[in-house]
Amino acid sequence: MSKTSLEALPAEGGLGNEPLLAVDDLHVEFATRGGAVKAVNGVSYSLDAGETLAVLGESGSGKSVTAQAIMGILDIPPARIPKGEVRFHGTDLLKLSEEARTQVRGQRIAMIFQDALSALNPVFTVGWQISEMFRVHRGMSKRDSMKKAVELMDRVRIPAAKQRVNDYPHQFSGGMRQRIMIAMSIALDPEVLIADEPTTALDVTVQAQVMELLAELQRESNMGMILITHDLGVVADVADKIAVMYAGRIVENAPVHDIYKAPAHPYTKGLLESIPRVDHKGQELYAIKGLPPNLLAMPTGCAFHPRCPYRQDNCVTDVPPLYEISGTRNSACHYWREVLDGDQG
Ligand code: SF4
Repeated sequence: MSKTSLEALPAEGGLGNEPLLAVDDLHVEFATRGGAVKAVNGVSYSLDAGETLAVLGESGSGKSVTAQAIMGILDIPPARIPKGEVRFHGTDLLKLSEEARTQVRGQRIAMIFQDALSALNPVFTVGWQISEMFRVHRGMSKRDSMKKAVELMDRVRIPAAKQRVNDYPHQFSGGMRQRIMIAMSIALDPEVLIADEPTTALDVTVQAQVMELLAELQRESNMGMILITHDLGVVADVADKIAVMYAGRIVENAPVHDIYKAPAHPYTKGLLESIPRVDHKGQELYAIKGLPPNLLAMPTGCAFHPRCPYRQDNCVTDVPPLYEISGTRNSACHYWREVLDGDQG
């Protein structure tokens, strides 16, 4: 594969009609003893500046692997990208040299990981860790970079930032540590922020505060944001559009309001029904039956068929394409019309 240099990337703004970020027909495989595991199987999505895309799915659906391919942090091998493109301002990142990729990673496309405690170094103060971004990437002095760290801690609403800048990670609560991770990820004003399950380890009240903070920071800076989650409940107020993944494929994508109004794939419908609701107090919580498929022994036809209440005979043999429902909406279900109508057989 020939490698392109970073000069091909514009400093800011987009290229004609090209979105800020476009994942196009991406395939990722992992070599294992049991054979090649197809973790991502033809995923396409796009993101514009100021837009939030929520990528939703259970563990093993391929949502985090796709994000790691965008960031260029997959271990290759055992991972392999046999096909696809990740275009940033129209330039395929997969064709960049590793040196050029390093300049994009963290500076122009940044990522927040779910486990803030293990991502922060316990032996350095949080101020030192935040300010390192400015020393390493902007060549700032220790004094100036620490000033920037305090500013950032203020920006992510850490109370008494000036007094706490020399505290260590263990002296902060889980929610505050996640705010420190967010501060580090936005330090260099990235154009795209990928948040991988940013609130999973937090309790419900803190989850809402962190989501609110992310939405606010995005509005201020017009970043594009990819929010990876297994929880449809956390995305309603922040996402513009949703891509639902199952067994390495996108099974439904749509503007967020369309999905909440009426899902067009039985898996999305199951995810929506499993959100706890205050007006259903005392009722048993719905759970999608069965388990996600073993990627080494994928079901024939539609991968969701063993768990699907809408299944018909042809679902067991025919892989559903991503049907176009409208210009902004697709579903990989042969019976999307029945699902939309709520007509279960
Ligand atoms: Fe269910 Fe068939 Fe649709 Fe797959 S194609 S989601 S099995 S109805």
